[in-house]
Amino acid sequence: MKKNTDFKIKFWGVRGSYPIADKNFLEYGGNTSCIEINAGSTKIILDGGTGIIPLGDKMFKEHISSAENAQGRKPMKVTMLLSHIHQDHIQGLNFFKPLNVLTTQFLLFGYSGYDSNLDETLSELIFGKSFPINLYDITADIDICDINEANFIILNCPRKFRDKEHYKAKHRNEVRMIEPVCVTERNFGVAPLKGEQLYGCDEQAEGCDTILNNDCDKPIIKRVSAFEEVKPKKNEVIISTLKLNSHPNFGVMAYKISYKDKSVVYATDTECYSGGSKKLELFAKDTDLLIHDSQYTTEDYLSVVSPKQGFGHSTFDMAFETAKAANVKQLAFFHFDPSYDDKKLTNIENSFIKKNKNCFFAKEGLEICL
Ligand SMILES: [Zn+2]
Ligand SMILES: [Zn+2]
Repeated sequence: MKKNTDFKIKFWGVRGSYPIADKNFLEYGGNTSCIEINAGSTKIILDGGTGIIPLGDKMFKEHISSAENAQGRKPMKVTMLLSHIHQDHIQGLNFFKPLNVLTTQFLLFGYSGYDSNLDETLSELIFGKSFPINLYDITADIDICDINEANFIILNCPRKFRDKEHYKAKHRNEVRMIEPVCVTERNFGVAPLKGEQLYGCDEQAEGCDTILNNDCDKPIIKRVSAFEEVKPKKNEVIISTLKLNSHPNFGVMAYKISYKDKSVVYATDTECYSGGSKKLELFAKDTDLLIHDSQYTTEDYLSVVSPKQGFGHSTFDMAFETAKAANVKQLAFFHFDPSYDDKKLTNIENSFIKKNKNCFFAKEGLEICL
């Protein structure tokens, strides 16, 4: 099938646990988890490990050079999907330069089940006491949205989005709940106050009584039965979510991003069970690219001296088995242990490529088109 050149995936950080700076780690890279996805004009960032810092620097540079003055510059629009709140997935976020730009629109989605809302959780973890500024002192326009399993996020709905009634009729039996959750409550069912413009609307949104029949390009979140296939239309990007519980403290969210006729699944920080993760297999079935946690060799995982079972991470073999069972077209091994240097990773990579050509190790700076 023809490659979809406007669906690009770039790795900015591929390490798990903590970043590493060492001459023996330059080939695969030392930054922690961060991946950039460009699907048409939609930019999605997966996780905010230290890899997000160079990505932000690049975006900021491009933004500044796009026009001579601030008024002329195109706002940076980013949708971020957070797998979970462990350090190696959020530690670069404070230093993401686009957040310091007034016109940046930053929309972050992450798991809703922590002790407090995601914005409060992040605020406590990486801002406030541990950082010179507070989360809500940030210049950019930030929305932080709590999501859960079986939420669908639809970005770039066309002008006449297939409306609620149509959707209901089509999926009458499967839809458990249709509800635009969170984002900004005022965008749903509430008309703008005098002089206000709703986020994402091109014009004064008079009579904008629901997002479903208006021009807003704010995402729509729906809740549908798990694993239901909803195909993206035109320039839509559909994000499907899956909660995996095999990671200590609150589990982790896996995401599937679908655009046109292709999809990519991001499943980091997950430990496969005996016989493979059946939920993940189903979620990733036939996907074009599966990015899968591969923190350890099987030998290290089963080590008697320092066992890694129960740490919430997979081995290279587990990732390989899941990819095979899910019949994915390509597998990217990801989230490498920070003690594995280039030499060790190259040897492991070669042994897997010998078995199957459709797999590769993620490397910092590597970009692929689906
Ligand atoms: Zn991690
Ligand atoms: Zn983790």
